[in-house]
Amino acid sequence: MLDTICWDSNLIRRYDLAGPRYTSYPTAAQFGSQVGTFDLLHALRDSRKALRPLSLYVHIPFCANICYYCACNKVITKDRGRAHAYLQRLEQEIQLIGCHLDPTQRVEQLHFGGGTPTFLSHDELRQLMAKLRQHLNLLDDDSGDYGIEIDPREADWSTMGLLRELGFNRVSIGLQDLDPAVQRAVNRLQSLEETRAVVEAARTLQFRSINIDLIYGLPKQTPENFARTVQEVIHLQPDRLSVFNYAHLPERFMPQRRINSQDLPTPEQKLAMLQGTIEQLTAAGYRYVGMDHFALPDEELAIAQEEATLQRNFQGYTTHGHCDLIGLGVSAISQIGDLYCQNSSDLNHYQNTLADGQLATSRGLICNADDRLRRAVIQQLICHFHLPFAEIEQTFNIDFRGYFAPQWPQLQAMAADGLIELDDTHIRVLPAGRLLVRSVCMVFDAYLDQHNRQRFSRVI
Ligand code: SF4
Repeated sequence: MLDTICWDSNLIRRYDLAGPRYTSYPTAAQFGSQVGTFDLLHALRDSRKALRPLSLYVHIPFCANICYYCACNKVITKDRGRAHAYLQRLEQEIQLIGCHLDPTQRVEQLHFGGGTPTFLSHDELRQLMAKLRQHLNLLDDDSGDYGIEIDPREADWSTMGLLRELGFNRVSIGLQDLDPAVQRAVNRLQSLEETRAVVEAARTLQFRSINIDLIYGLPKQTPENFARTVQEVIHLQPDRLSVFNYAHLPERFMPQRRINSQDLPTPEQKLAMLQGTIEQLTAAGYRYVGMDHFALPDEELAIAQEEATLQRNFQGYTTHGHCDLIGLGVSAISQIGDLYCQNSSDLNHYQNTLADGQLATSRGLICNADDRLRRAVIQQLICHFHLPFAEIEQTFNIDFRGYFAPQWPQLQAMAADGLIELDDTHIRVLPAGRLLVRSVCMVFDAYLDQHNRQRFSRVI
């Protein structure tokens, strides 16, 4: 049985540093323009030779309305026709990528994200899935993990029925907060009934897993009204819950400038919201998986953590870390072996490049030996809270303590503070450090300095 979280406000205040969420190491902040299409083609060839299974991410950037807290790559438009030109180019990309893969490489995981994937019409969704099936080896027997992000304002029972028919078996539902004052302050008016209808449809249609996203730290939120949202969500009984901290960075994200900073809760109120949420979810039987994520004990993420097979990639915690991840669409990121690469984040540039018959890779990074080692360390800590040095020493042929000698004093300080247990054989993240695991991982991040720390949100 995994340890529970131990709440220690003092430690949280001291270690609440800005840092990455480590959906990759090195993080996307390190990507550069030295990596391009040639590197992607090279990596695809290696993937094909090794016949590695695949995880696909498909980005649909359009949203009909703007949420003021948004930090995603999206295009706000009421013009549904804009999807047409985009889909033409996306289909071209699918075809180009498919040419470089082996038809037997199984797509074990598929995720449609955005933006709002259900911005697309039913016909467009049908056509896009048909194109994916035509050029890639999607599974027909419901054995893959095929998920899609749902905005309940853009989906009804018939949409859910269509998605199930097309092969999706997981949904991730954006909810964020149910309080009308909060919803008005972030321009996202979404009733509990709309969300409940989507959840009930997903259950009835036998989707395997339902995730709900919440955000704390939004304007007009208080510990009391957020607790009411959490309680309503518990009644909906999602299999997983993501509870994200809102990072107010209006200088980086334009929509956030429409949030009145005087409406934001204080750091003390945010801490109270997080503490209260953890208590409510734990009492309702949810388990803390790590880094903003909770799951029921019989959900596969919680089981994978128990069995030490959990991994982390650009899609967050996953049981498909052994797959090559291929990102399709504007701004989508791929991770194939040692290569990370990202498509252009500019919609016009993405579309024009594909119109010229070229893939739209614009930047990336090829991991060196040190990156691979640190990636394994961070992955192990963030997924399992336990790092036995022997495995790392054997795999990377190093002496752990010698290699990380400069980091040792920092680790010792964390051990003295009760965040971790440290000796010559292992690091274990203690219950008081589990919420702060990102801070422990940051010790091993070779790229983190004061300058690029400012790009990230705080730990909590
Ligand atoms: S938060 Fe999601 S739905 Fe809202 S504008 Fe951003 S991408 Fe669109």
